[in-house]
Amino acid sequence: MNALSIFAGLDSSDRIRFVGDVPRGAECGCRCMACGAPLVARRGDVRTWHFAHGASQERPDCYAGAVNLLRRLAIERMKDLGLPPLPAFRAMVTAPPPLPPLHEVIEWQPGHGEIEQWEARFPQNAPVALLRLSSRTAVRVFVEIDGASTSLQLPNAEDEGVLLFTIPLPSSSEELKDIDVAAHHIDTTSSSRWIRLPDAAAKIDEARRRVEEKARKVHDETQALRRIGNRPLLPEPAVPPFPPLTSLPSASSSSELDHSPWASWRKPRSAFLCYGLQDGSAWILFTHRDGRHVMAPWPLDEGWDESMPARIGAPDLELGVYMLENQLKTMIYLGEMRPRVQSASTWSDLLGIAWLQRQ
Ligand SMILES: [Zn+2]
Repeated sequence: MNALSIFAGLDSSDRIRFVGDVPRGAECGCRCMACGAPLVARRGDVRTWHFAHGASQERPDCYAGAVNLLRRLAIERMKDLGLPPLPAFRAMVTAPPPLPPLHEVIEWQPGHGEIEQWEARFPQNAPVALLRLSSRTAVRVFVEIDGASTSLQLPNAEDEGVLLFTIPLPSSSEELKDIDVAAHHIDTTSSSRWIRLPDAAAKIDEARRRVEEKARKVHDETQALRRIGNRPLLPEPAVPPFPPLTSLPSASSSSELDHSPWASWRKPRSAFLCYGLQDGSAWILFTHRDGRHVMAPWPLDEGWDESMPARIGAPDLELGVYMLENQLKTMIYLGEMRPRVQSASTWSDLLGIAWLQRQ
């Protein structure tokens, strides 16, 4: 869609009006949510229907104002219709370095929840409601339009949960033409996930102990083999099938704008796993949107596609990554090079890794 088409404004009684719901022209008395300028409904045959600013110039944040109205509509629907069913909580637990980074994904069913209070106003990035679980745990509910929010104001109280609803922007402005299609878009595409759920803390601790124990065993076996001088023979660790690098509940991943070079095809919100080698180079493991595990060289030097043995994977020259045969085998292979290992849930977290040289 045209990223700058303003599809909604506020009328004189502060109601949300989409461009298809008002007569052509300035009759509706609508104004821009962001700058307050009067809006004119343009409903031609050729261009997408949109609101134009009467006399003044549109500012870049005027479109963001319309997006904020879509968010408000989503919140109003939740108030009217109630929250959709609560999602299961999922988290990925990783063994800490220098252990091989084995993972376990845990799942927790949050049970029932009731809205205790809606906020009076809905500023961007602030919670919109307080939800009370049957366990009595308080949960702050956030709503974001994909790509619109920058950073959520998470509660300081660690015993409070955080639940985030995300509504993607539609691919076509037809889906924002009037309030009915916009509501339908919200109802059919909204998704939710836990950023934090204290109720699951004990289960996470338990999983962490389990993963560390397994990783320690793999580590010790590898060390033992190394001592025998039999390095190429790596043990197949006794671990369950490797789970995909799914999204980690973390504050920063919730509002990620993916500026990575792989943004167009990387699985949204999948984690990065970085292996920094002694020579300053690194390998970055993550997941393709189609579920395949890949590994990108850092930096992208000439000859990168010849630096891995065939049993690890095949280079995809177009994407600039190795398509991995088996992620766990790759991790063990890289682990042999005594790398620094760190995971990052977003591109900006990745760039924040101090030892990863910016190239
Ligand atoms: Zn404006």
